[in-house]
Amino acid sequence: MALARQLGVDRLDAQVLLGELLARPRSWLLAHGDALLTPEQDVRLRAWLDRRAAGEPLAYLLGRKEFHGLTFQVSPAVLVPRPDTEVLVDWALEILKASPQPSPQVLDLGTGSGAIALAIRHAHPAARVTAIDASLEALQVAQANAHALGLEMRLLHSHWWRAVAGERFDLVVSNPPYIAEADPHLSALIHEPMQALTPGGDGLQSLRDIARDAHAHLAPGAWLLLEHGHDQASAVASLLHTHGFESVSTRFDLAGHGRCTGGRYPGTTPSQCP
Ligand code: GLN
Repeated sequence: MALARQLGVDRLDAQVLLGELLARPRSWLLAHGDALLTPEQDVRLRAWLDRRAAGEPLAYLLGRKEFHGLTFQVSPAVLVPRPDTEVLVDWALEILKASPQPSPQVLDLGTGSGAIALAIRHAHPAARVTAIDASLEALQVAQANAHALGLEMRLLHSHWWRAVAGERFDLVVSNPPYIAEADPHLSALIHEPMQALTPGGDGLQSLRDIARDAHAHLAPGAWLLLEHGHDQASAVASLLHTHGFESVSTRFDLAGHGRCTGGRYPGTTPSQCP
């Protein structure tokens, strides 16, 4: 692991890559510190360490990432699922648990790897889940994940709401691109798809577009939950208020940042036939 140190690669990341290469758990590596690599393995490890040193996410090197207790395939066509986004999933699951609908209709806008949509479907199998993405490559990854996890969901190629004209949902979730164009944080994320990270400008345009057209796609009493940047909670809350949402609130991530803001679309439930 001297090479990893020399390249400035995190020790744990280097151990994970070595374990992957040798198909051994980390515990085995710790007990066999001097295990020799074949020349081919040595070449592969060096290539991986170089890529990691250049900032490529570990998840792209491994081709997978854990999210909400499930393993998702990932490629550079999709954002790497973040632990912070589990806040959005947990909130969605609370809402579904309290929902009077036996099979609530759920929509995920900008699904990427499908992580949010599939984590919801896995934990709440009665939900009928639709996932949308503007990238065909991302949809292929989401499709592969649905298949590998044995979970059903409908996938649509669309720019936000366009493909679901005339449809209404009980719960809509989204982790849209929200990083501001000038945010210095962006330069550390060059390996991930820019269209999943930033809409340009102040970072709020996708959130505005989603909130603006939500009214036509929400059933009475439906919820819209949006992930956003650490400093965007009040902007998203006022956006939701402007568009007539009620019970608007923000949930915080593990670092204590406001990470998701959501609200309930008013309206009366259609009266039941006597
Ligand atoms: N949370 C991600 C980050 O800051 C960005 C995700 C997004 O733009 N939707 O690294």
